[in-house]
Parts: sequence; structure tokens; C-alpha cells
Amino acid sequence: MTTSKRHYHITTFGCQMNKADSERMAGVLEDMGFEWCEDPNNADVILYNTCTIRDNAEQKVYSYLGRQAKRKHEKPDLTLIVAGCVAQQEGEALLRRVPELDLVMGPQHANRLKDLLESVFDGNQVVATDSVHIIEDITQPRRDSKVTAWVNVIYGCNERCTYCVVPNVRGVEQSRTPSAIRAEMEELGRQGYKEVTLLGQNIDAYGRDLPGTTLEGRHLHNFTDLLYYVHDVPGIERLRFATSHPRYFTERLIKACAELPKVCEHFHIPFQSGDNELLKAMARGYTHEKYRRIIDTIRRYMPDASISADAIVGFPGETEAQFENTLKLVEDIGFDMLNTAAYSPRPGTPAALWDNQLSEEIKSDRLQRLNHLVNLKVAERSQRYFRRIEEVLVEDQNPKDQTQVMGRTGGNRLTFFSGDIKELQGQLVKVKITEVRPFSLTGEPVEVKQALFV
Ligand code: SF4
Repeated sequence: MTTSKRHYHITTFGCQMNKADSERMAGVLEDMGFEWCEDPNNADVILYNTCTIRDNAEQKVYSYLGRQAKRKHEKPDLTLIVAGCVAQQEGEALLRRVPELDLVMGPQHANRLKDLLESVFDGNQVVATDSVHIIEDITQPRRDSKVTAWVNVIYGCNERCTYCVVPNVRGVEQSRTPSAIRAEMEELGRQGYKEVTLLGQNIDAYGRDLPGTTLEGRHLHNFTDLLYYVHDVPGIERLRFATSHPRYFTERLIKACAELPKVCEHFHIPFQSGDNELLKAMARGYTHEKYRRIIDTIRRYMPDASISADAIVGFPGETEAQFENTLKLVEDIGFDMLNTAAYSPRPGTPAALWDNQLSEEIKSDRLQRLNHLVNLKVAERSQRYFRRIEEVLVEDQNPKDQTQVMGRTGGNRLTFFSGDIKELQGQLVKVKITEVRPFSLTGEPVEVKQALFV
């Protein structure tokens, strides 16, 4: 069956890991001769890369699927794929719910898409949700950006946070080898990428499943070692990483981030709750005092570092007093960004079975109050940028104003300023900040920086 001029469309829900997986699957499809098309209604292969972190995320895919399942009755050679965490969670049950589906594949199978699709083209309906060892990609991801790139360092998670569905759907920790990670980054440097974000659900677990190794005289046992090992990759000017876990976050890592010039002073460290009893019920493995010490230590080494986090309100049994401990922590720390969510019971997680669930009214009331505080604190925290010179890596044109370009500061603040994207894309530009908003900045370009690391 010739696959040339056939088109594909991928819709991605959820986290950075899913975005990186979608780029990998797009790379596989392009390697098979498919071409991207913007409108899913013109596609021959439709792939939904799904998220099940909360119920509303899961429900989203069914409305999309319904429309395409109808379309398949008029276009029988349309190929419908559900990938990602809902696929892993539901498996065969998805075929019963949407019989028009051709392929249901879990996240661990992302780079096996070619084999799975060939089985579909042979007339099979395929479900791939068994646990597998994730082999290195054989195709190049089709990346959304020309400037910044995601690089997976560890897949899966061995933690057992009682609210979280991730270990069930993404499987056990699987670290990539340091040399495979470095090789991918070197290739990115050659392709002109300037910034890499190293990805892992719990990036501090990197290397736990790998036998310690020594490369070029360096002992590589954990994430901090990896940072030192990949820091000097030619062409890459900035390094970021996510997601950190307070339980395993070390002063050695903080010291490395302060020492290594390419590492951006931005840390994403979810705390989830400011109350120790709740942190225990969540099985997070740290106290709010430990979390505060981590932030204090970061600010001792890097006073201006950006701190972002995730928080859950309305966890089963959460009292008003315990919720106020979360508000107090947010008040005291002053985050640059905080992703907030109301607790959503997830299939296969311990907390979903507990009988002390809170009402939706209480959850949404607490979410509103937390978001109100977050907006105040983030706006306050943003003020420090006013009239400062910030270094911005230009990523794109401002979609709302063609005379402007946009990019991020080292602290991960979205920044807009006038300029020509053709000239400035991928450049580090010194920008004087003239306008501050809670979640973004505007400024005037001062100087285009010459590449430091070639
Ligand atoms: S660390 Fe906890 S919250 Fe994060 S992915 Fe693992 S189980 Fe989920």
C-alpha cells in the first residue's frame, strides 16, 4: 500500500512528556511517508495522544473521537488511533466504546508506531498496552520548535503518590543512557537548537535503574552527574529540566545549577499541599518544612531563581485548616507560577477509594481562593523585572502582533518585544523590561548577544 501523499494529524492533550511523545510519533509517521495536515478533517491518519491526569482531561478525547468515528463511516480507509495515558488506562475497553478505532497504544509504545500501524494496514485492530522496555528512537522527532527541544531522560515513575495515575499508565522508571541523551543533544546542537529541556516525571530519579557508569572520566549515577556530563554540548546555550520531586531534591543539584552557566535559574518543584498530614496521606515523602528548606537553599545560591510548582486542593479529608496551610505556604514562598487543580479521583489510585471525598462545591471554592492568592503573588513577584535587562531567547513571532517577537527569560517568563523573527529567531537578545504583567513581560531590545558557546 503506497503511503505517499497520505496525511496525518496529531492532537496532543496533557503534559510535556505527551508533547515530546507526539513529536516522536510524528517523526515515525513522516518517516513512513505521511505528511502533516493542519485540519484533522483532511487527514487519513488521526492520532489523539491523550491525558488522564484528571477526569476532565480524560473526557475531552471522547468528544473528538465521536466526530471522527462518524467520519469513518463515510471514509472507511480513515485510520483512527488513541495513544497516551487514556489508551493505557482503558486498553481493550476503548475498542468496545469506539469500535471504529484501529489502534490503541500506551505511551511506552510511542516509538513502535510503525510496526503497530503496519499491522493495522494488514487489516488488524490493534491494542498495544503491555509493558515493554522503551528502546531508543530510530526516527527523528518532528519538533514543533526550531529553537527549543524536549529531550526525555527518564520514562515512567516508581513513586506511589496516592492520587496519581501516572505510574499505572506510564509504567516503571526507565532511564536513557547518558551517552544516548548526549548524542541526541549533540544532534540538536548541530541542527541549530539553542535550548533543551530535559524531561522526566520524576527527574530526580534519573539513573536509579541504571548501573553506575564512568564516561570520559565522569561517574554518572544520578541527575546531577548527567547535568555536568551534558553541559558542554556545542551549540546548546540553555538547559532546563522538569519535573523535580522534593523528596529527592539535593543541595548538590542546586549547587550544580548555580555553578553551570547554561542551566536556567528556573525550578519546577510540585509541593501539592502545605499540610504535613495531607502530604503523608498523599504519600509524597516530605514535609512542608523540608520543601521550604529546599526553596531557601535555592534562593541562597540563586536569589533571583524562578520557582514554579503544582498544588492540589480538595484532596480527600482535607480540612479548612489544612487548606489554609497550603495558602500559607503559597503566601510565604511567592511562586513565579503555580499550576493549581482540584482533586479528581482517578481509576486504580488508592485515594479514589477513600470514603472521605469532598464535595465539588468545597473543591471549587478552595480552587477559586487559591487561584485568587496565586494571581496576587505572581503579579507581586513579576514586579522585580521592571526596568531590568533580561536575556530572552527568541522563539517565535507574537501571534497577536506581527511587529513583535516572543521568547523566554532564563526565569521562564514569556517576553514580547519589537523585532523581525527572520533576523532574531534562535538569538539571545538583551531586553529592557518596560511593562510587567503577572505571567508575561514586554520590553525594548538593547543588544543581540553573540553566541557564547559554539
Ligand atoms: S512523582 Fe507522584 S505525582 Fe509525580 S508522576 Fe510520580 S506518582 Fe505521579
